[in-house]
Amino acid sequence: MSPFKSRKQNSQKQEDGSSSFSNKPNLWQPKTELGKKVASGQITSMDQIYLGGMKVLEPEIIDTLLPDLKEEVLEVTSTQRMTAYGRKQQMRAVVVMGSERGYISVGVGKAAESRDAISKAIENAKKKIVKVSLGCSSWECGCGTNHSVIRTTMGKSSSTQIEIKPAPRGVGIVANETAKKVLQLAGIKDVWTLSKGRTRNVLNMVLATVNALSKLNQLKLGIDYDKSEKTSSSKAAPNAS
Ligand SMILES: [Zn+2]
Repeated sequence: MSPFKSRKQNSQKQEDGSSSFSNKPNLWQPKTELGKKVASGQITSMDQIYLGGMKVLEPEIIDTLLPDLKEEVLEVTSTQRMTAYGRKQQMRAVVVMGSERGYISVGVGKAAESRDAISKAIENAKKKIVKVSLGCSSWECGCGTNHSVIRTTMGKSSSTQIEIKPAPRGVGIVANETAKKVLQLAGIKDVWTLSKGRTRNVLNMVLATVNALSKLNQLKLGIDYDKSEKTSSSKAAPNAS
């Protein structure tokens, strides 16, 4: 964050000196309508974006509205890819990002170096953040706080499936390691889960979990986690040059 400070001083030379930009990093030149509204302070929360059914196309929007988003690299694997010159090794990173307060995402990135694959995965995740409706709907609990999910939900990715059920306070997250990380980052404290299929496949397990969580939200999000894997891989191809 420190490089922003020096840039900000330089930009004070600008003649128009619009005050709304003064407390925001000036490195970002928003390209989309939504980005411009976020940068100018017209939109100040992720909830506004989801209520309006808008699509986040610039990662800076997430940096601005969810600055304390945490990320966890769940997996970096090497894959072989065929090119005109023969086999090429590529690294694939799977990253989960969450606010621990109801926002969650998974991103996939591919690059020759692990480090680049991870940063691509983070960029990818920032474009697919979904809101999770947290609550307490366990009849055994009834405390009314946001420690669990609002209802039972199911999700799947390929042959991997998960069912997530509200649990009373103190139960903790009853899930396999991969699903547990996703649920924790979403901000869930107590939940029961049941998973089936290829649960050891990290990417499918994460996608299934996020798919289930995204279904809790009644709002139209513009993100379909059933299809997100296909979408991200087809988009990744032209970037691979
Ligand atoms: Zn409760």
